[in-house]
Amino acid sequence: MNGINLVAPKVYNLVWEIEKFATTSKVALKWVNSNGETHSITYKDLYNKVHQYAFSFKNNGIEKGDKLFVMMPRCVETYAVYLAILKIGCVIVPGSEMLTIKDIQYRIDHSDVKGIVAHNQYLDTFSSFAKSGNYKLFTINEQTGVWNSLNDQAIIGAHVLTVETKSDDLAFISYTSGTTGNPKGVVHTHSWGYAHIRTIASSWLDVTEDDVVWATAGPGWQKWIWSPFLATLGSGATGFFYEGKFDPETFLTLLNKHNITVFCSTPTEYRFMAKAENLDQFKLPSLRSAVSAGEPLNQEVIHTFKKYFQVDVRDGYGQTENTLLIGTLKDIKAKVGSMGVPTPGNLVEIVDDDGNLVGTNTVGNIAVHINSPALFKHYYNDASRTNAQIRGNYYITGDRAKKDEDGYYWFDGRSDDIIISAGYTIGPFEIEDALVQHKMVKECAVVASPDPLRGNVVKAFVVLTENSSNGDELIIELQEHVKKVTAPYKYPRKIEFVHELPKTTSGKIRRVELRAREQMPESK
Ligand code: ATP
Ligand code: MG
Repeated sequence: MNGINLVAPKVYNLVWEIEKFATTSKVALKWVNSNGETHSITYKDLYNKVHQYAFSFKNNGIEKGDKLFVMMPRCVETYAVYLAILKIGCVIVPGSEMLTIKDIQYRIDHSDVKGIVAHNQYLDTFSSFAKSGNYKLFTINEQTGVWNSLNDQAIIGAHVLTVETKSDDLAFISYTSGTTGNPKGVVHTHSWGYAHIRTIASSWLDVTEDDVVWATAGPGWQKWIWSPFLATLGSGATGFFYEGKFDPETFLTLLNKHNITVFCSTPTEYRFMAKAENLDQFKLPSLRSAVSAGEPLNQEVIHTFKKYFQVDVRDGYGQTENTLLIGTLKDIKAKVGSMGVPTPGNLVEIVDDDGNLVGTNTVGNIAVHINSPALFKHYYNDASRTNAQIRGNYYITGDRAKKDEDGYYWFDGRSDDIIISAGYTIGPFEIEDALVQHKMVKECAVVASPDPLRGNVVKAFVVLTENSSNGDELIIELQEHVKKVTAPYKYPRKIEFVHELPKTTSGKIRRVELRAREQMPESK
């Protein structure tokens, strides 16, 4: 597959990728806290922490193969916790700080964890788990009650050997975002990590040892494992993070001040930055690689970043279940609006519902060959959901796209989000992309709304930019705009102005919720 070897050696621990740099005094991480203070740590000092944490886990009865639920914020200790768990051959079950008790309970019960690692600021959330006495408990600062401290002073200077795991031993059980239903526990082995680093670091993110990489994903999401953790530290680069909250102007200021060379963010963050006021005040001379993943990337963002910062924002498509599958890779000619081409080493195709390849420019399912090394093993304890995704030799992603004559992929939408109106099949993304091009639209989501005549009609939920006034005139203006940019039959017959859109905790638009709202008898 594309001449790149993504198959890991039989005995392989993912942590070795980062251990290569463990003795260097190169800066591994640089961060700004919410008070605006800058700190940094070298690879060597980070690794001293890793040894210390690994020692503490082992000393408290954690053994090879045990699963640990980890809930940590963006902070330096999170990197050390992840590395220490992999180092001793254990399995990470990541949990985002945005999770509710119910979400946490679901993950902990579902993945049979032996222990919990939680930052001190979350200990109250875990009180019922602590009381149960069923888990080994670890926190970061001082020991509190039943919680063991990983930073226990007595073990500074500890040295722990890395466990020689097999490449098909479990490394992560990562839960999906839950955009469409209950999150699925995606099982990834050490060999997945091997394939992942080789897929994305150089060909898409374009990271070298000399870079300062800011990948904004938060710990607990697979994207954090993808970019800030594995791709950045596995390349020996300097990772940057910001402990404060997202704000477009703050982000633009930090990009400039800290000479970020590689930036990886979400379409939502890009959209908000692109619509920031006084964009021309910001200069980003160091930025040379900017990528986006997680949701469809709007053309408007690409044009704005090019105009103001002379940088091409390159799209990338992938899932918790795999790695980056399709991307506007660093060396290809971009086609604005297309996600790009399959990443090296992964066999990605468009197939029909029976798993047969479809022709050029025909919309079908994005599918990955089941032998692709960067594909997950299965959903944990969920054979029926695993089997439901396989057709013949392909894993079906649940997303739809078409491939053009040059081999570029064009996203159509999630299979569940496709709208069938008067016999036409309409992907919501194209309409959303057209709407966001309008200066008064901040963001929007397009779903099917039941209609007695047409079965369904296209409905757009629209959040306006500040100082825009809504009303019938604007509705007509937006409808005409979509007709012009796409095709007349695709225009949203219904438009509703809203203050915000329902999103997952990771910030993805939940069209499933809007669709359900439209199905209620009282909705129009
Ligand atoms: P769940 O599977 O629980 O419903 P989810 O699919 O949102 O949640 P993730 O694995 O975090 O969970 O997200 C992967 C999905 O995000 C893809 O299947 C696709 O729908 C969407 N996605 C990711 N990148 C892109 C992109 N560049 N363009 C369009 N969609 C994207
Ligand atoms: Mg999914």
